Amino acid sequence: MPWVYSFAPQTKKPRRVAAVPILPVAAEELGNKAANLFAMCALGLPVPPGFVLRAELCAHYHRRRGWPRALSGEVKRALAQVERASGRGFGARNNPLLVSVRASGRVSMPGMLDTVLNLGLNDVTVMGLAQASNNPAFAYDCYRRFLHTYGALVRGVESEAFEDIWENCKLDRGYADEQEMRPRDWLVVIRAFQALIRRKSKKPFPQNVTTQLWDAMGAVFDSWRNARARAWRDLHRLPDDWGMAVSVQSMVFGNWDADSATGVAFSRNPTTGQKQLYGEFLPRAQGEEVVAGLRTPFSLTKSEGEPSMQTALPQAFRALARAADLLERHFGDMQDIEFTVQQKKLWLLQTRRARRSVAAAVKIAADMVREKRLGKGQALLLLDAPALMQLLHPELAPLRAGAVVLASGLPASPGAVSGELVFSSQAAVAAAAQERRVILVRPETSPEDIQGMVAARGVLTVRGGLTSHAAVVARGLGRPCVSGAGALQLDERREILRAGRHVLRAGDRLTIDGASGKIVLGEAATRQPALSDEILRLMGWSDKMRRLQIRANADTLEDAKAALRYGADGLGLLRTEQMFFAPGRLDMFRAFVLGAGKVRERARQSLLRRQRADFYHLFRLLGTRPIAIRLLDPPLQRFLPQNADEAEALAARLKLPPERLRARLAEIANFNPMLGHRGVRLLLTEEGIFTLQVQAIFEAMALCARRGLRVQPEIMVPFVSLPPELAALSARAAQCAAPFRARDKRFRYRLGIMIETPRAALLAADFAPLVDFVSFGSNDLTQLSFGMSRDDAAGFLRTYLQRDFLPADPFVQLDEDGVGALIGLAVRRARARRPRLICGLCGEHGGDAASIRFCSALAMNYVSCSPYRVPIARLAAAQAALTENPARNPASGSR
Ligand code: PEP
Ligand code: MG
Repeated sequence: MPWVYSFAPQTKKPRRVAAVPILPVAAEELGNKAANLFAMCALGLPVPPGFVLRAELCAHYHRRRGWPRALSGEVKRALAQVERASGRGFGARNNPLLVSVRASGRVSMPGMLDTVLNLGLNDVTVMGLAQASNNPAFAYDCYRRFLHTYGALVRGVESEAFEDIWENCKLDRGYADEQEMRPRDWLVVIRAFQALIRRKSKKPFPQNVTTQLWDAMGAVFDSWRNARARAWRDLHRLPDDWGMAVSVQSMVFGNWDADSATGVAFSRNPTTGQKQLYGEFLPRAQGEEVVAGLRTPFSLTKSEGEPSMQTALPQAFRALARAADLLERHFGDMQDIEFTVQQKKLWLLQTRRARRSVAAAVKIAADMVREKRLGKGQALLLLDAPALMQLLHPELAPLRAGAVVLASGLPASPGAVSGELVFSSQAAVAAAAQERRVILVRPETSPEDIQGMVAARGVLTVRGGLTSHAAVVARGLGRPCVSGAGALQLDERREILRAGRHVLRAGDRLTIDGASGKIVLGEAATRQPALSDEILRLMGWSDKMRRLQIRANADTLEDAKAALRYGADGLGLLRTEQMFFAPGRLDMFRAFVLGAGKVRERARQSLLRRQRADFYHLFRLLGTRPIAIRLLDPPLQRFLPQNADEAEALAARLKLPPERLRARLAEIANFNPMLGHRGVRLLLTEEGIFTLQVQAIFEAMALCARRGLRVQPEIMVPFVSLPPELAALSARAAQCAAPFRARDKRFRYRLGIMIETPRAALLAADFAPLVDFVSFGSNDLTQLSFGMSRDDAAGFLRTYLQRDFLPADPFVQLDEDGVGALIGLAVRRARARRPRLICGLCGEHGGDAASIRFCSALAMNYVSCSPYRVPIARLAAAQAALTENPARNPASGSR
């Protein structure tokens, strides 16, 4: 296999864009930049001729500190081709060929790798260039730049030493810029640069252009290992052994004369997505000057009173517009193009996928389908699903000068809101009753804070990770939330929040941004993004292409309404504990749990009535869509008084003997509640709770049936680990259902489990015959697989992530190797027994694109996520289906 591949523009225009290019080798062997040069050549676009040393050579060069034997002949032949194509000779006295030597990586590593320009200049060829361009100053300037780059990159001479000589020369002569330099002055600089190289590197600057070329190719390969490039790869987790290709290409000059320029063009507007050639150009300049920002560039298209490329170089502008269009159609995506104009002729130096804002990305994807440039599936694959979140919540407007960012926490639930600070849920509820907008700050939140979180505009916690209670509930509610802002000091008792020298008290105003985690002092401006027609259209296409059902985790009617607004197919997790925390119900529930006789019965009746109404309204809202109801999961102590004073007050309110209440509380207490008496264990031992919930569901179903709506809810038992646990509850549920069945033959419900313990996952085959469905509670499954509490992990996980122990926070992105393996095994074992068993996932991972891809690949039936993540999940599921096997999805290529 050759080491070197040549490219030059095709002279014959290809007939069909789709038919090109045929790359000579795999794209990763050429690197992104060079592969795209080949594509441009095949499209007949004007690309300066050149050749590429493929990436495999990078490893060879570093291993052996030298070149393979065959390379010299291949480079010689390739160079001869460039000479023929450009009509110039390398090292020739007249009209010499100059080349650039550039890195071409698999992915762009902006500014990290080295480039050598103007190679091929020596004391003789510089005269030839001066003659050919009729511009000695231009030729000398190219030579000066080349000597500088060669000295710094190849010989390791300090860059500043060249800059000092250059600046001093102008200063000594009193010149404002290089335009004033005379040939004599240039010679002084050039001799000084050459002397510097000789002195510092103990070797003269090579006048032999072939030596220059080999030296430069080695130096550019060496840049793969420089500290900048290594740091960049570490940051982006790119493998060191990828290596990179190197391109050698004939130079073209944007600084040749007044009809020359250089610039950058986007095939569409990267901010708005509008279809217009967009970009900047600089007359009489070389490439890096546009990026360096030393001179202000001009617009490409005509603009009032300003020079533009369209007016100054109309012919080249038209050629650029045509090329941008062709490239966009060929690559099926918006392009970012670097170009040079030399003596009015356009040359393309690079094209790549353009970065763009989320709003632009959505518009471009929709427009490209309308313009018949892409199929719907292809357009969906252009989008970054998680980034869609930015389009759904109010966002922080750019901060004004002087704004104070107090601290940054974890971006737990997106959206930006301002409000007065309150320190307790009660204060939040009271303030909301007066229609005041508040931000609730807590050390962390627990289920009792739900009312406060509902009442507050936003939630800020000092502890807790991205899946802490606060984060999960806030996302479910669509409340912006910043969690784990450890830099803040909260004195809960005195109601003081400190951030450095700032001291905030109740009523002080602040703004939190749950998308970035920023906490800003005072009222920062926010803006509301509108859901565009385009995004709605893209969502519609996603729904046709995905295989996974997207359900929502919703605890209240309001959540459920939001879920439907965002296009959920149903509910995958209704956490019923919230129904016991609703206003006025907590004491009822306490009376039911702690009381006896009539007290308990009265409480039961009241709770039953209220819960029946809750379920009824939810059923009516959801209609025939699926709805998974999780029976009570948290340990009872979450609902009960936390100290002796509260207990005494409760005893008085409920008219219970204090000693009985104390004894009952002691019975209920757990040392480690989350691993204690909770979930199925509670439902088995406190059978009254189980029958109360099941009865309420059944009565609501019967009410619906009477009004002509047949619902078939999925009753979900949490935290199981033993098949007999489920078998016992299943028998009890059947007993409760018997009277309803007797009245209505079509009365049906489904009973299933949440797989949240590793044991339940391992025993999935034994559970399969007992259940109608399983739903993976991936939050608990992650906690128990790692033995790591989601509320305590934020601190050390940060270190773990920094040290690359884990690729991502396992509470956000499913840990495929561990937790994912358990899920995969459970799905396979369960389906081996019951091939059509419904399998879903309802942990927080249900809203994460990578985890959704994992679930789709396992052929699960649904994922369930917070309502506000539903659009992301719909798109991510479509993308998963499209990339799994496009052939299985007939819509993927449809236009
Ligand atoms: C889970 O564990 O994944 C789950 C959905 O339940 P919760 O977050 O309420 O523990
Ligand atoms: Mg759980």
